[in-house]
Amino acid sequence: MRELRIAVGRAGARAQTWPPLLLKGGLDFLFPPLCVACGGRVSEVHALCSSCWQSMAFVEGALCACCGLPFEIDPGEGTVCGGCYAKPPRFQRARSLVHYDEASKGLILAFKYGDRLDRAPAFARWLERVGRPLLEDADLIVPVPLHRWRLWRRRYNQSAILAQHLAKAAGKPFTPFVLERARATPSQGSMPSAKARRRNMLGAFRVPKDQRDGVRNRNILLVDDVFTTGATLESCARALQRAGAGRIDALTLARVVRPASHTI
Ligand SMILES: [Zn+2]
Ligand SMILES: [Zn+2]
Repeated sequence: MRELRIAVGRAGARAQTWPPLLLKGGLDFLFPPLCVACGGRVSEVHALCSSCWQSMAFVEGALCACCGLPFEIDPGEGTVCGGCYAKPPRFQRARSLVHYDEASKGLILAFKYGDRLDRAPAFARWLERVGRPLLEDADLIVPVPLHRWRLWRRRYNQSAILAQHLAKAAGKPFTPFVLERARATPSQGSMPSAKARRRNMLGAFRVPKDQRDGVRNRNILLVDDVFTTGATLESCARALQRAGAGRIDALTLARVVRPASHTI
């Protein structure tokens, strides 16, 4: 059976010594590991079962060197898409794990709204794999913040939880207070166009005064759940640039890929 498995690190290997192994065997018997997408039985924790694995469209192959948009035909290393060529984003690289589609939607929405925070370690480990070059260059791991009202309603910020697990997996500092929402914005999902999304996000974020020294000349890796048009990440990158940040990259779980945007 094919499963998306994550190599167990040294800490994991240590945990496999005799008494914990017995304990693990007992726990597996009581609580067998389940597929993080469909809940079916799998042989390892943090794994997808073979049918879920096959249904996921991973973002791979030739990508825009900047925004990570997949190309249908490989135009060669370092090529950027039409959108990035016309208007270079303020972030240097954005990369994502999966396409945002019917197969991944349920998984991501359950994480965002449905209290399925138990999926965070699995997502973080997968993201660590696709985002390794970005993580290597990062000094700070910064989640896209929620406005405090939305945070209060939703009770948690899924991007912060993801970023925290990612930072831990990569051994990098998790710095959730580097960015804050300057104002509450209507949900990006309710915006009718990419232009409206950009306008909605203008000035939405800022770096608080007491965080500016910590940001200056530091390379930042932004973490969010879904890359839709890039407007949110662009707005975050603008605030970070103003505060004097160095390189800014972004990593998201999923990415919306519209066929119309496949121009080179
Ligand atoms: Zn499954
Ligand atoms: Zn691009």
